[in-house]
Amino acid sequence: MSDYRIETKCVQGGYTPGNGEPRQIPIVQSTTFKYATSEDMGKLFDLEASGYFYTRLQNPTNDYVAAKIAELEGGTAAMLTSSGQAASFYAIFNIASCGDHVVSSATIYGGTYNLFAVTMKRMGIDFTFVSPDCTEEELNAAFRPNTKAVFGETIANPALTVLDIEKFANAAHAHGVPLIIDNTFATPYGCRPFEWGADIVTHSTTKYMDGHGAAVGGCIVDSGKFDWMAHADKFPGLCTPDDSYHGITYAEKFGKEGAFITKATAQLMRDFGSIQSPQNAFYLNLGLESLHVRMKRHCENGLAVAKFLQSSDKIDWVTYADLPGDKYHELAKKYLPNGTCGVVSFGVKGGRKAAEEFMKKLKLIAIETHVADARSCCLHPANATHRQMNDDELIACGITNNLVRLSCGLENAEDLIADLKQALGE
Ligand SMILES: *Cc1c(COP(=O)(O)O)cnc(C)c1O
Repeated sequence: MSDYRIETKCVQGGYTPGNGEPRQIPIVQSTTFKYATSEDMGKLFDLEASGYFYTRLQNPTNDYVAAKIAELEGGTAAMLTSSGQAASFYAIFNIASCGDHVVSSATIYGGTYNLFAVTMKRMGIDFTFVSPDCTEEELNAAFRPNTKAVFGETIANPALTVLDIEKFANAAHAHGVPLIIDNTFATPYGCRPFEWGADIVTHSTTKYMDGHGAAVGGCIVDSGKFDWMAHADKFPGLCTPDDSYHGITYAEKFGKEGAFITKATAQLMRDFGSIQSPQNAFYLNLGLESLHVRMKRHCENGLAVAKFLQSSDKIDWVTYADLPGDKYHELAKKYLPNGTCGVVSFGVKGGRKAAEEFMKKLKLIAIETHVADARSCCLHPANATHRQMNDDELIACGITNNLVRLSCGLENAEDLIADLKQALGE
């Protein structure tokens, strides 16, 4: 599939049926798999042979869909997880443990911020948050001898900052660590971070990839480019024998292309068990089949709505990187030439109260904590996803108390604009 264009990979990647086999990816709704001899199964447990034995570790349906996402991103290996949160946690915890440190962009999803700043901190992993707009000097100054990774979002949810992926990749590599990019909002249709130097990509597939609000899920993809052995002192989990797997050294046995995902499957999925159900993976694949068609429409609707909001005197400001003049327009043109996404954020004149009143009057656009599916919806982060943050923390995440995040779905743009107009009293 690697020679085909992204649209073709969306439709047919990951799974090629043989003669007489199902055309659609089969749902293998089975927890377990049968073997003739204990020796056969023993080889699987020793990672000497590849195959399935228990769905908590691997399942064929999940593997077909993960293989499609690996093709879309241009990676060498991928795994599905039960949620985007699990993907973010695994991606970091696979290479960082108690006593380690990670540099992260400050404008990241609220759930990820909480995972890093509170829960993983409690596990002994320290995070330094830097502005995505920081200078190279500021970025370099954030590293410590125990730094194990750099993390950021291509398009941040909900701040909509666009990350200068090359700047972050260069800094990460200069310090001998990988760059992990959450590519949820951009999707591989909009941006493929590996082409700009990122090493690992994560997704909340719950968003545009599924695209129908049907299934919570996540994914981790490895570019296969990071040379763990060249920095073996930093990554003992990959570069020294794993006692819990009969002394296997992942980076030696599976190479740059396979070590990261094999370790995450063999250790983290085994121990934490955040597997995606095969049924959800099937729904995810249905979404992926139309990802390229839908993203185009999400972006068209986003731009039409952003232009309307910009022209309204009831609106303080609009953030949408495809708008000329947006702070991130130049970065968006470089990293996301086909359009950013369908999510627009804006400030309603009159502050927190005015934002709440406006949202109450919407008819077509629903209030939801969700984004990035077929139906348009909106959210007031200061009252919802980011409730646990104080005003200073909100500002550090690029959020004001009158910010409304609007996710433009696949409806007719004129109907969306009419709904916004009536709710604004225009
Ligand atoms: C939603 C989201 C997540 C978390 O994903 P879940 O599937 O809800 O666990 C992580 N990152 C980004 C950018 C998101 O939008």
